[in-house]
Amino acid sequence: LSKVRVVMSPKVPTERAYQPKQPLLITKQELQRAIDENELVLHYQPKVEMQVSDSFPVTGCEALVRWNHAIHGMLFPDAFIEFAENEGLIGQLTEAVIKGAIAQQQHWRSLGIQCPISINLSPKNLTDLSLPNRLAFMLDEAGIERSLLVAEITEQAAMADPDMANEILTRLRIKRIDVSLDDFGSGYSSLAEVYRMPLCELKFDRSLVRDLDQNDDAKMVIKAQMALARSLGLIVCAEGIETLSTARFLQSIGCDRGQGYYYCKPLPSKEITEYLRLKVGKTNRKNARKADHG
Ligand code: C2E
Ligand code: MG
Ligand code: MG
Ligand code: MG
Repeated sequence: LSKVRVVMSPKVPTERAYQPKQPLLITKQELQRAIDENELVLHYQPKVEMQVSDSFPVTGCEALVRWNHAIHGMLFPDAFIEFAENEGLIGQLTEAVIKGAIAQQQHWRSLGIQCPISINLSPKNLTDLSLPNRLAFMLDEAGIERSLLVAEITEQAAMADPDMANEILTRLRIKRIDVSLDDFGSGYSSLAEVYRMPLCELKFDRSLVRDLDQNDDAKMVIKAQMALARSLGLIVCAEGIETLSTARFLQSIGCDRGQGYYYCKPLPSKEITEYLRLKVGKTNRKNARKADHG
C-alpha cells in the first residue's frame, strides 16, 4: 500500500487563510476512488483586466482542483497533486478536471455566460503527446468553443523538457487552444528561454508579486521583466495580488491582467456563477439581444 505524508488543510467553507502542519495519510486507492466517484471539485478564481478603467472586467477564470474528502474535509492541491503524479494517476486526474471545466462551460452557456476557463497541467501531462488532440476532441464533442479553454503550464514543467513542452504547446496552438506560462519567475528560467515557446500569456509568480509592497528592488525586477514580456507580444498576468497598493503599482507599469485575493478568492461553482452573472452576464446578454435583433 503506497502512502504519503501530506499537509492537511482546514475545513474552511471557501478558502484557507493559513496552512496548518498536521500530517495526513492518503492512499492511491483512495485517490483513485475520489477521481472515479467525483470527489474532486473545481473552484474558480477570476482573472481581471487591469487596464480597463476601474471596473476590472473579468477576462477568464482559473479552475483550481480541491478534493472533498469524506473524512478529512476539503483538501487543497498541494496535498495530492504531487502524490497523483508519483502514483501514475495524474493523467486521470487531469482528464477529470477537463471534464469538470467543460461541464461548467455547458452550464454557463445555458445561462448566456461566456468566460474562458484556464486549467492547470502537470509536468507529466506534458509528456503525453496525445493530450492536445484529446482536449480538442472533448471540447468539440461537448460543443464548446476551443477559445473557452486555456492550458496553464508551469515554468518548472516547461523547463524540465523544453523540446517536449514546445511540441505539446505547438500542438495545442494548432488546435486553437491558448497556452499560458504559470509561475513565471519562481524558478531559474529567463525570458531568453521562454520567448521561443508559442505562448499567449505569461503569469508572474506570487513570490515576485508578494514582495512588491515591501521591496523596491522587486519593483525594478518586475518592471523590467514586464516591459520585456510585453515587447515580446505576451499578455502579462500577475497572480497573488493581495493589496490595493500592489494592484496600483502593477497597473502603473502596464500589467494587463491580475488575479488574487484583492479581487476575488477562488469560489465554488455556484458562487462563481453568481459572481459572473453580475460581472459579465449583463454585457453578454445585451450582446445576445443585439444579435437577436440582427
Ligand atoms: P497556481 O496555478 O499558481 O494557482 C494559484 C494558487 O494561489 C492557488 O492555490 C490560489 O488559490 C492561490 N492564490 C490565488 N490568489 C492568491 C492570493 O492573493 N494570495 C495567496 N496567498 N494565494 C493566492 P491552490 O488552489 O492551493 O493551488 C496551488 C497550485 O496547485 C496551483 O498553483 C497549481 O499549480 C496546482 N493546481 C491547482 N489545481 C490544479 C489542477 O487541476 N491540476 C494540476 N495539475 N495542478 C493544479
Ligand atoms: Mg495556475
Ligand atoms: Mg499560477
Ligand atoms: Mg503559482
